[in-house]
Amino acid sequence: MTFNPNSDISGGNVKRRGRGAAVGGGVGIVGVIVVFVVSQLTGVDIGGLVGGGAQSGPTGPDEAITECQTGEDANASVDCLMKGAAASIEDFWAEAYPSVAGNEYVTPSFILFDQSTTTGCGAASSATGPFYCPPDQTIYIDTTFFQQLREPPFDTTGGTLAQMYIAAHEWGHHIQNISGIMGQADRTGTGADSGSVRIELQADCFAGAWVAAASETDDASGTKFLEPPTRAQVTDALDAAAAVGDDRIQQGSGQEVDAEAWTHGSSEQRQRWFSTGHEGGAASCDTFGVDGAQL
Ligand SMILES: [Zn+2]
Repeated sequence: MTFNPNSDISGGNVKRRGRGAAVGGGVGIVGVIVVFVVSQLTGVDIGGLVGGGAQSGPTGPDEAITECQTGEDANASVDCLMKGAAASIEDFWAEAYPSVAGNEYVTPSFILFDQSTTTGCGAASSATGPFYCPPDQTIYIDTTFFQQLREPPFDTTGGTLAQMYIAAHEWGHHIQNISGIMGQADRTGTGADSGSVRIELQADCFAGAWVAAASETDDASGTKFLEPPTRAQVTDALDAAAAVGDDRIQQGSGQEVDAEAWTHGSSEQRQRWFSTGHEGGAASCDTFGVDGAQL
């Protein structure tokens, strides 16, 4: 998906975490326990936090990405792409949120990092993958993950819409967090119709809803952020959704496909719920309102 070169993305709320030395103290045993406890409670795209190798990392300073000002910048670099995506996704949710919940919408923090960092959910490394941390209401993306998407076992083209789909998926977890959906879900179990999978498929659906509306979001002066996606770009995003399906990941790591162990949903489920949101908008994303056979 291509940004309108003239659009103003300067309002995108994304920061890049500096690589300063880790703040001393607070890690070690206590840090490990916090990582373990939080991952047990949340389990939302943070599975890699335990055993990911990193137990500490930079906590800041978080620097505004000042070089990203226009859609032309967003088309040219991944940092600016994320900042532009944030501007558009924010604009979408500021309007769409009442179709999901009755309380007030609040903006998440959005941090890009490199290699490792410390978060409200514990330490994250490049092996963690993108995730949302509910306690600090922050999306964390190590942008090198986008390169991983183009390599085995994912092997997708990993184009710009696929990258923005991931940002929109994590943003979807923020919507679930502030609306109370996440708190009400039973995410202790696994399996194709578990609460964990329903949470993930809803985030995919929310991402699809944003993609459909993305070319209608606009900056403060009314310039559209994005041009409508091409069919190839939507296919690219669907490929990314399929690549991170639990069955595909199990196969890629040489395991038997075991639906009982699923936490995010199959490739087919993830594509289908992305499409549901794409066609029906955020209000169509009630993954908790359908029975298991329809999920
Ligand atoms: Zn997720």
